[in-house]
Formats: sequence, structure tokens, C-alpha cells
Amino acid sequence: MNIYGQTMEMLQNYFKSFGENPAKAKIVFAALYRDKISSFFDIAELSDTVKTRLAADFEFSGVALVTKSETETTCKYLFRLSDGHTIETVLMKHAYGNGVCVSTQVGCNMDCAFCESGKLKKVRSLEPHEMVHQVLYLRDVLGIPVSHVVLMGIGEPFDNYENVMNFTDIISHQQGISIPARHITISTAGIVPKILEYASRTAAPALAISLHAPNDELRNRLMPINRAYPIRELVDAAKVYAEKSGKKVTFAYIMIHGVNDSDECALELAALLKGINCYVNLIPYNKTRSASFEPSSKERVLEFYDMLKKQGINVTIRREFGGDMNAACGQLSSDYKQKKCSQ
Ligand code: SAH
Repeated sequence: MNIYGQTMEMLQNYFKSFGENPAKAKIVFAALYRDKISSFFDIAELSDTVKTRLAADFEFSGVALVTKSETETTCKYLFRLSDGHTIETVLMKHAYGNGVCVSTQVGCNMDCAFCESGKLKKVRSLEPHEMVHQVLYLRDVLGIPVSHVVLMGIGEPFDNYENVMNFTDIISHQQGISIPARHITISTAGIVPKILEYASRTAAPALAISLHAPNDELRNRLMPINRAYPIRELVDAAKVYAEKSGKKVTFAYIMIHGVNDSDECALELAALLKGINCYVNLIPYNKTRSASFEPSSKERVLEFYDMLKKQGINVTIRREFGGDMNAACGQLSSDYKQKKCSQ
């Protein structure tokens, strides 16, 4: 087992299982995440017996950097996992701090028409430690302070629910990496039963739903997941989440020229979301290798924004990140062979 995949609760149970004080879990967390030790034998507060036992049961191995490409505001890292598969992680430099966009799976089964990440079918889900290592590599190996985490890299987080919950528990824990849950956002393509399950979690990260269309006819074409969980069920689940959690839910809406950016779409979207405690985040479409879509013009995005505003919907326009180096949303891919990144 990898030590970085252990939540505080798991470690407490581990210590309990052989009659040790579960409070030792806190000592281990502080050593790993605050003191950044890389051997249990460096933890002075633990007895030799406990250290030896930990060393026999847990390993430390992380991810290996393959390539990196950067612009002024973005840096994209291709990491190799221990089984040889590769994933991508993106650093976004905001005025308010650095955000890390984490991948949750190798490949993705959602197969959204506009997204490059789904072109490679899901190979497997990532283990919690493989997500933790994406953050730790940036923070500890590269020395980059990390204030925000978004689960918007390759993969569908709610198709890897347990591991993702454990990952966010680890990075948000005060003795852990201590990124507050409100600074973490999980984005889902719309797996309704998991949204409902998530609604009952306390102190959970923020939730974003990739909506991208205001009706079933269009959403079925863009996002096959809509055939399993149609838009009405999705929006109802979002409403349950917003009411139970007391938090605003974000609906991401990418603006694709001539596809989902008409006046009718704006009105339909406003009617669909009326009465839900939410934001709509309009995202300029990033061109991908495989799809032939074009982004909406800046003027169209602003008009769409105005129409939603007039209908009483909270709406924002997302700043684009990394569009010039395939590090933007929907442009990440696990397929190393296609990579053109420089070392
Ligand atoms: N599977 C999850 C997590 C991925 S998040 C989800 O769908 O939410 C990645 C975000 O980028 C999603 O909102 C996705 O819909 C969006 N996206 C995908 N392709 C894009 C593209 N070409 N341009 C802009 N956004 C895109």
C-alpha cells in the first residue's frame, strides 16, 4: 500500500488494528505533509517497532515527470504512473494563488463530442495516492505553493467516487496538505446517483456540473452520459445537492459556435435553472484535434451572458487557461504517443 493514499481515518484504524494509539496517525500525517519526510525512520516521535512495522506495510513511491510545457500562466506536466500509464496535471497561476488541475483516471469513458480527454477510453481509475502525488509533486518536488485544486483533468471523478473522496479527504485535512474543501472543486459530467450521494457529505468540496446544453436533444449529441441520466434528472439532482449542502452548484457551459450558443439556448437554459442556487460558468470552447467545433465569438459569449443575467441567473465568464499549448479544458490526453511537448 502507498502511504499517501491513506486518509486520517484509515491510518487511525491501522494503528488500532494492532493495539497502538490511533493518535499516531496525526504524527504520521504531520511528518508526511508538513515535514515532508521520505522514510518512516525519520519520524522521531515513533518507536522503532512502529517505524519498522510502517516501513513493512507502506511504500512512498510517487509519479515520475516525463515532460513539461509552460506558458506565462499555465504549466502542463505529463506524469508516468508506476504501471507505465501516463496522465496530465495542469498548474494554473491565478492572481489569487496557484490552482492544480488533477486527473482522476487514465482515459475517460464519458466520450463527450467536444473533449480530447475521452478519445482514449478509460484504462483504469487512479488510486488516491496517484492523485495526491500530482499535488505533492508540484508542492514538494517543484516547490510551488498550491492554494486551489480542481478535479478537472482527465477522467470522470464520479466514476471513481471512493478514491476521489479519499483523495479530497487527504488533501483537505488540516494535518495533511490542508487545502480547505472550499478551495477544491469536483467537476462531473452528470452521474446522477453519485451527485445525490455526494449531496449528503458534510464539509465536502464544491461541485461543478458540466452541462453544456439546455435540452436532451442537444445534450444527447454532445454528451452520451445524458442518455443514461437525462437533463431533468440531472438538474433535479443538482437542486437536491444545493439544498442539502447549502452551497451554490456551478454549471459549466462551454460556448460552441452555432451549436449551443443561440438566443433560444440562453432562454431555455435560464428557464431550466430558474430557482436553483447556482452559477453558470460560460467557458470559451477550446479547439481540439478531433472535433470540428469552433468557439463562439467573444461578442456572442457576452450576448449570451447578458441574456442569462437579464433572466436573473448568476453567470460568470471563465478566463481561458493554456489554450495555446493544449493544456486547456478538454485538450488533455493520456496518449503519450501523440505528445508534441518539449522536454
Ligand atoms: N469528467 C468531468 C471532469 C472533467 S472537467 C466533467 O466532465 O466535468 C473538464 C471540463 O472541461 C468539463 O467541464 C468539460 O466539459 C470541459 N471541456 C471539455 N472539452 C472542452 C473543450 N474543448 N473546451 C472547453 N472546455 C472543455
